[in-house]
Amino acid sequence: MDQDRQLRIGVDLGGTKIEGIVLTAAGEVAELVRRPTPSSSYDKVVAEICGLIRELQKGRRLKVGIGTPGALAAPSETIKNSNSTCLNGHPLKRDVEQQLGQAVRMENDANCFALSEAHYGAGRDCRSVFGVIIGTGTGGGFVVDGKLHTGPNRIAGEWGHNCIPANVRGSIDLDRKCYCGRLNCIETVLCGNGLRRTFAEAGGAELEAAEIARLAANGDEPAAACLTLYCRQLAQCVATIINMIDPEMVVFGGGLCNIEQIYQVVPTMLAEYVFTDNLLTRVSPPRFGDASGARGAACLWSLEE
Ligand SMILES: [Zn+2]
Repeated sequence: MDQDRQLRIGVDLGGTKIEGIVLTAAGEVAELVRRPTPSSSYDKVVAEICGLIRELQKGRRLKVGIGTPGALAAPSETIKNSNSTCLNGHPLKRDVEQQLGQAVRMENDANCFALSEAHYGAGRDCRSVFGVIIGTGTGGGFVVDGKLHTGPNRIAGEWGHNCIPANVRGSIDLDRKCYCGRLNCIETVLCGNGLRRTFAEAGGAELEAAEIARLAANGDEPAAACLTLYCRQLAQCVATIINMIDPEMVVFGGGLCNIEQIYQVVPTMLAEYVFTDNLLTRVSPPRFGDASGARGAACLWSLEE
């Protein structure tokens, strides 16, 4: 039984797959199970999650954390803002708990990413870690002393839905409507489609973000200019985060975090925008990448609990 206390189950509920792991105290994945996410109905998603957890439990009663797209709306505890739309409006946490007969913890995937990197990843030696997601969307999470910072609105870390600052809008006349209903949110500029759109608006072809980065690395001038602007926009927006909460580390995740130029230029650009002469905050790529969803979900429980 004592050995079981050192193990936690983490589940990452994604749009296409559900991944479940058993995580050891040392941060190693002892078991891993993957299943496709049923797209047709909410009830099937709940059944699939519970089936996967039972498979990992093997009759034990390990603690369970679940990472989801979207967030749990307070105070109703129903899922909101999820791009897996069949989840929205449903009390996923309560339904899983009822089927399993045990309490589970649930957080959005950006928060799980930040936890994973803060516990066992790039930020494992840091007291405070801000995880920045730049991918299909933008998101984030803030971990202090190993614990997620959460608030009454459950939106801590949602830097992507502030307005992009005017000084980094470039020559483009921005008028981008965000899915949240606001205009020119940071997400509309810094997500993958945002970079793609900036390049196209400057006269370039409709290319994926990774392709623009590849062209820039190979000396293509329009692509390089577009990527430099992107890095400047990223630096300005991350500087706002640093000025507010002063984390020891900013760790990037999401599809665009693989762009190497980010790590070459953003730290220097940050120094221009952050309110200090000697910037000590470190900027890092992630250690675990896509694996962080399930790992971070397991870290929603501490070993001492
Ligand atoms: Zn928005």
